[in-house]
Amino acid sequence: MSHLPNLDHYWLPFTANRQFKSMPRLFKAAKGNYYTTIDDRTLLDGTAGLWCVAAGHGREEIASAVAQQLRTLDYAPAFQNSHPLAFEAAERLAQFMPQGLDRIFFTGSGSESADTALKIALAYHRVTGNPLRNKLIGRERGYHGVNFGGLSVGGIAGNSKSFGNGLAGVDHIRHPLDIARNAFTRGLPQDGGIALANEFEQRITTLHDPATIAALIVEPMQGSAGVVLPPVGYLKRLREICDKYGILLIFDEVITGFGRLGTTFASDYFGVVPDIITCAKALTNGAVPMGAVAVKREIHDAFMSNSPANAIELPHGYTYSGHPVACAAAIATLDIFTNDKLVERSAGLSGHFELAAHSLKGIPYVKDIRNMGLVAGIELEPTPGRPGARAFATYLKCYEMGVLVRYTGDVIAISPPLTIEKHEIDRIFSCIAEALTELAAEGEQGMDP
Ligand code: PMP
Repeated sequence: MSHLPNLDHYWLPFTANRQFKSMPRLFKAAKGNYYTTIDDRTLLDGTAGLWCVAAGHGREEIASAVAQQLRTLDYAPAFQNSHPLAFEAAERLAQFMPQGLDRIFFTGSGSESADTALKIALAYHRVTGNPLRNKLIGRERGYHGVNFGGLSVGGIAGNSKSFGNGLAGVDHIRHPLDIARNAFTRGLPQDGGIALANEFEQRITTLHDPATIAALIVEPMQGSAGVVLPPVGYLKRLREICDKYGILLIFDEVITGFGRLGTTFASDYFGVVPDIITCAKALTNGAVPMGAVAVKREIHDAFMSNSPANAIELPHGYTYSGHPVACAAAIATLDIFTNDKLVERSAGLSGHFELAAHSLKGIPYVKDIRNMGLVAGIELEPTPGRPGARAFATYLKCYEMGVLVRYTGDVIAISPPLTIEKHEIDRIFSCIAEALTELAAEGEQGMDP
């Protein structure tokens, strides 16, 4: 391998570091739908980086906006000062949001957005005279980043078990995955949505006092836990229950935002408007770290009208909130979304994508296939005693064959850039089929890299 750096010092996040260092997978360049590895191999990007490079890699429009901004105003203090581009970026983003969610708080990531949203929800109830609304509800298998708020409402045990107790006053409701009933369903599961949502009502009225619940946070489509889709009617019913009890509904749209499901936000797809939406990732096409929280105007206005004049209405924020370079990248990215009609493109490709994903039915080890928009999860039969090992081996084989896929637990997750071509979609899934067929031929040996 050429130009291998010293691997001693960098501790990679969410990575088996010792395994990685025995087989480093390093990229040196990216353009369009492809990465170039450090040893000059080309990899088709089946994952849009980490769900973030929606407009394809190396966009000149973003590069020049960022370079120009760095030379003009590299940084402005985020507190008590700002710069015009932050207001412009907020206005532009508000136009992408469902109607009414037009007040924007900027953060530096999806995790920061989750914690910001939870804090806004708690503070909102205080500012409106309901200080007893302290509890936060998330879901099993939910992922809301890695900071303590998001980790606490998140429901992936493997992510939290190393870190103590998390926030108090948090509860979780069931996730909607039901493979026994819905294996190989194309698109959304049809049944069980209302009953599952009603469990939320039952839980908050029997185990809690609903007047103590501040917010429910859900990913409309649970990505990190392995592409878990909401059954028809489920999210709408959650909205009704939240309304009934004065509970704020937060949609974490960090991966479902910006066209992934074929609509601008998942909220548009489901016709359900939450009180708060979090986003990040594709907001800057992954080029510069940035997240945002969009809040219903009434919620924002409650802070403005119920706090003393000259008071800091929300004692929360980051040095890099509304960073000028991130704002420049976001505006350039939103321009690309509009000019290249990426959301429409995503919607137009989703039928082909669905067929390609479901062509894996019958391939060895494939236990379930779930898809929506340009996301698919291929769930594999787990190897006894070695959860995730087969998916990891599949990921490595695909990597060797020139296709970047992602694995999470026993699920291979596919989420290509929205600029993907049909023949590239076909290649991604045929590569997975080939990898699994090879694995089956190799038996257990194939799983030890
Ligand atoms: N929420 C969701 C739904 C996510 O998928 C992610 C990242 N995959 C996050 C939050 C956290 O984002 P970040 O890694 O930018 O902190």
